[in-house]
Amino acid sequence: MGGLVAAVRARELGADVLVLEKGDRPGGSMRLSGGYAWRYREWDRFRDECPGGDEALQRLVWEHFDSGLAWLRRQGAPILSEDTGNPLTTGVRLDVDRLSSVLAKQAGDVRFREPLTALPDGVPVVLATGGFHAGRELVRRHITPEADELVLRGNPWSAGTGLELGLAAGAGLSAGMDEFWGRAMPAPPAVVEPAGYRSLGQTYARFARVVNERGDEYRPRSWSEIDVAQWIARQPRGRAWFHVRDDALAERVRDRTVAEMIESAREAGAPVERAEGETVVEVVAGITTTLGGLAVDTSARAADGIWVAGADAGGISTGGWASGLASALVLGLVAAESALGHAE
Ligand SMILES: Cc1cc2nc3c(=O)[nH]c(=O)nc-3n(C[C@H](O)[C@H](O)[C@H](O)COP(=O)(O)OP(=O)(O)OC[C@H]3O[C@@H](n4cnc5c(N)ncnc54)[C@H](O)[C@@H]3O)c2cc1C
Repeated sequence: MGGLVAAVRARELGADVLVLEKGDRPGGSMRLSGGYAWRYREWDRFRDECPGGDEALQRLVWEHFDSGLAWLRRQGAPILSEDTGNPLTTGVRLDVDRLSSVLAKQAGDVRFREPLTALPDGVPVVLATGGFHAGRELVRRHITPEADELVLRGNPWSAGTGLELGLAAGAGLSAGMDEFWGRAMPAPPAVVEPAGYRSLGQTYARFARVVNERGDEYRPRSWSEIDVAQWIARQPRGRAWFHVRDDALAERVRDRTVAEMIESAREAGAPVERAEGETVVEVVAGITTTLGGLAVDTSARAADGIWVAGADAGGISTGGWASGLASALVLGLVAAESALGHAE
């Protein structure tokens, strides 16, 4: 998303733009997403939820999100709902399929299946390759030695090109290189395909007893259960088991009951067992997007001639989770404006 936003904004400012896209379609992970673009309603809540994030960058995203959304509406962004369904947050639900087409159309020269592999000389560059969730060795190096056990829950193309090119050009690393946004997902032999990235999420750890194979227990801390996914990723064999008592099966998380989520895991082929008064579901961590990346300043600049947007820029939601679509939107706009000398 960050790259398309930067391209559209740069063209609006009069630049000639070339977008190199590794994938065979526009929209990256944005297109697979739920489309909820949001910020915390309260600034203090943002800081409490993501205490390790760079405060100046958080301010930038939090203060510019509403005007960014207004810009996106002016581009013709299709909105499915004017509400996020989460009382902690304010924002919208975007129609991500149509938005991808709308932005790609206005981004000008977009070349599919043409990955960026080296930085061009003499022109400003906006790196927006979506982080490194699909780069197994980078995930192993920065996040967990159990990288092989993680299931992919984001686009297959974001393997860390932006990170590597940025570092080679002199950029630094952000805080939180070991953090990622993800979900507990049904364990193999379940197969998790893109169509199931959202519907197979097992987001009821708060109603379960969460244990690893040694019997160590984990108590969820965050409303988003991002901490649960990160904990699972670091356990032996990247596995955990959710023990759900029968009286918790009717509990709801957004529009689904715990029983429905368990049923989706069973149908997908995950090990789901009945025990005395409880159901036990084996889960692994699904990795959606990385939260650490290149360090940028509030003009989205990472190094000479290099600006960064989206998940390639790290250190915004460190310690928790804040909308990746929101930071891709705001940093995309800021990166284009700064690269062209239009910064505030
Ligand atoms: C299932 C799912 C649900 C989600 N739900 C939400 C949600 O409701 N709300 C929210 O805020 N966030 C959500 N997210 C996260 C959100 O989609 C991301 O945070 C956001 O898309 C990040 O934007 P980006 O521009 O960094 O990456 P992307 O949108 O993934 O774009 C990166 C692009 O870079 C391309 N690329 C990679 N490498 C190269 C290369 N070498 N050369 C050229 N191109 C390259 C990729 O193909 C991709 O098109 C969800 C993600 C998923 C997968």
